[in-house]
Amino acid sequence: METSTPRFGDTLVLGLGKTGADVARYLVRHSASVTLYGGLSSTEGPVVDSLRDLGVHVVLGTEDIEGSYELAVVSPGISERSEFFAHARAHAGEVMGEPEFAWRESPERWVAITGTNGKTTTTALTAELLRAAGLDAEAVGNIGTLITSVLDERRDGEWFVAELSSYQLATTSRLHPKAACLLNVTPDHLSWHGSMEAYALAKEKAFANLTPDDLAVVSCEDAWCRAAIARLEERGLCVCHLSTSDDPATPSAAFVRDGELVVRLRGVEQALVGVGELFIKGEHNVQNALAASALALSVGADVEGVRAGLRAFRPLEHRIEPCGEIAGVSFVNDSKATNTDSVEKALTAFVPGTVVLLLGGKDKGTDLTSLMAAAAGTCHAVVCFGAAGERMEEAAHKGLDDAGVTVARAEHLEDALDQGIALARPGDVVLLSPACASFDEFSSFEERGRVFKDLVAARVAAAGKGC
Ligand code: ADP
Repeated sequence: METSTPRFGDTLVLGLGKTGADVARYLVRHSASVTLYGGLSSTEGPVVDSLRDLGVHVVLGTEDIEGSYELAVVSPGISERSEFFAHARAHAGEVMGEPEFAWRESPERWVAITGTNGKTTTTALTAELLRAAGLDAEAVGNIGTLITSVLDERRDGEWFVAELSSYQLATTSRLHPKAACLLNVTPDHLSWHGSMEAYALAKEKAFANLTPDDLAVVSCEDAWCRAAIARLEERGLCVCHLSTSDDPATPSAAFVRDGELVVRLRGVEQALVGVGELFIKGEHNVQNALAASALALSVGADVEGVRAGLRAFRPLEHRIEPCGEIAGVSFVNDSKATNTDSVEKALTAFVPGTVVLLLGGKDKGTDLTSLMAAAAGTCHAVVCFGAAGERMEEAAHKGLDDAGVTVARAEHLEDALDQGIALARPGDVVLLSPACASFDEFSSFEERGRVFKDLVAARVAAAGKGC
């Protein structure tokens, strides 16, 4: 238990999820007087009991804050535009999100990673590259480790590689990483932010406090990112232009040349590994690998370590994850692909004409034209299943019949897998990359992916027994 002089006055925490509860516990450990407002729908329960036992004053079922506080820490589910947030502003000297709070508590050696897609992969890979280069590093933040919950155990010299969502970045002000990355900006979370502009600008806050000694790694492949690059360069910052194709010809750049990943920082160039040496497949993963390499090299990783880390890194669970093989047919779990963009990206990882794609789940109502155009070039067959099955099947016939791609319909995931197996030829890949949410059949994309892997494993075992 912390016994030093209190560093905090009266503090306010908003939200009763993991973030709110862990921040409250941290504050109590560091001798703060803490009041936690759970919000309108919050109710009594074991978490509330345990917080009260620690001395936290917990207020449930209301957003009407009373009293005055030095500091408020707001959970990421509470929008900056909400009344609850506004009440916190009216009652606290300073209002911030959890990453900003954690940064103020321990502001050395941070790398920040954001973007609409690819954050988790790039965060995990950057931490792995740093470790492969002999540095101490931990992947934290949105990836699943609440930063505040590991502050007390943080080691001297350890790097925090923080995955930060737009929600988390929106509530930062002083957060200052040594290197920060913006992978891409495509429409998402617009109801929280209010507009595409607000969403893009929230992401750009990752760079707000960078100085010319630091590094910004930014894609030059979408218009929102290019606009960000212009603003960052205007500020005199060092920007590494991230491209999955040609050399952007800027003093700092990360790109592919003759099939090799290349990073150039302030004019010093290093060729790293061949694209074919990566276990993570697809163009999007080339971008993630380039970004992670630039970040790791910029904060002191040596090139040999980065090369070794790139060659060792395996796909994360549910992201183009190989999960079995039967008679020359391989199976891949990409359950994380809950939108059409992600599926289009995944398809770039496979040899054209070899994919049996399992599509379906809870429909997001997105336009399917571009997805079917991508499938026409890569798929040998498409199996549409679940609540979205009918609409998917209709779009698939429209976009794929002329290309000679077989279209089938299945009830649910297991049925789709079995139809996929029946359609696959040796050398094909049965790919679950569903372009839909999972909630018609499962509680999450993680559960869907695990069930898929279990079903595949059962069929692999049966095939092994000659059944
Ligand atoms: P996030 O944490 O941002 O959701 P992940 O690394 O978990 O990102 O990847 C989620 C999905 O996004 C992947 O399954 C893949 O389809 C897609 N994706 C990954 N990296 C990129 C990228 N750099 N650009 C576009 N899409 C990507």
